[in-house]
Amino acid sequence: MKLSLVVPCFNEEENIPLFYSRVKSDFKNAGFDYEIVFVNDGSRDGTLRELKKLLAGEIPVKIVSFSRNFGKESAMYAGLENSSGDYVTIIDADLQQSPALALEMVRTLDSKPEYDCIAAYQENRGENKALVFFKDGFYKLINKFTDTEFRQGASDFRTFRRPMVEAVLSMGEYFRFSKGLFSWVGFNTKFIPYTAAERAKGESKWSFFKLFRYALEGFFGYTTAPLRIAGIAGGLSLLGFLVYLIFTIVRCARGAEYTSGNSAVMLILAIGGVNLICLWLIGEYLARTYIQGKGRPIYIAKEIIKNDRYGENNG
Ligand code: UDP
Ligand code: MG
Repeated sequence: MKLSLVVPCFNEEENIPLFYSRVKSDFKNAGFDYEIVFVNDGSRDGTLRELKKLLAGEIPVKIVSFSRNFGKESAMYAGLENSSGDYVTIIDADLQQSPALALEMVRTLDSKPEYDCIAAYQENRGENKALVFFKDGFYKLINKFTDTEFRQGASDFRTFRRPMVEAVLSMGEYFRFSKGLFSWVGFNTKFIPYTAAERAKGESKWSFFKLFRYALEGFFGYTTAPLRIAGIAGGLSLLGFLVYLIFTIVRCARGAEYTSGNSAVMLILAIGGVNLICLWLIGEYLARTYIQGKGRPIYIAKEIIKNDRYGENNG
């Protein structure tokens, strides 16, 4: 049995040696093989230099060094692609997530064959109230509009079995929102609570603006519902036209004068409604092209079971 630790690193020069020695001590008595796959995500500090120093150590280390900063999502993808373990853990370099807990995840997977993934989530996040409010709202909204389940507080700190890693890698979409992908691919995930430690060194790479953009990624990546808004608005406009038409007919029948204002209102409502309905129709085609463009697999089989009557030649 072998484990791969996948570690995205962006400007983590001070944390790399600390991370390495923590892993070394926490995994001293692990009793299985492991490798560390570091992804240097275009760091502008001495991260690569620190990583290269680790090549002389006794743990198998692989460094994937990006040509520029592509973001944590891309770094995670590259790490998974370059991992070879039967189990794979994604863990941050800043020691907010403890390697000891990763070891615990592996032990749980080893003893519980019914699970394919152990994912850590933060129960009480020490974040400011505004951010918590924003995040709560995001999760409510996204869960309402998408079929994929997004779990609040869930992190990328997870340990997978190999088949689930392959499933995630089979989703080659460019705009990645991994928390959604991990859920989309299915399999059985067990969520365990954890408390994020303070960052060992340096600062978080997430600004509010970056988080907001990331949230949009999650939203637009998993639902095409907004494309239907035009249809609803168009329907309402046509309904308004009908109501106004009846209202005007009744009024005129009772002797009121028909004015050019009446025509204007009706024309605006009718033409506006038809325009919006046409936009919605385009949206429906666009949604289909968009979903097809992601090139997601049509299904993901967890296993394919055959009996021994199945000869070698039959596949
Ligand atoms: N990271 C990365 N590329 C980026 C931003 C972050 O590889 O563009 C890495 C970073 O080095 C760390 C992990 O992703 O190992 C989580 O980042 P950070 O600690 O800044 O996020 P937070 O813990 O505040 O959510
Ligand atoms: Mg962090």
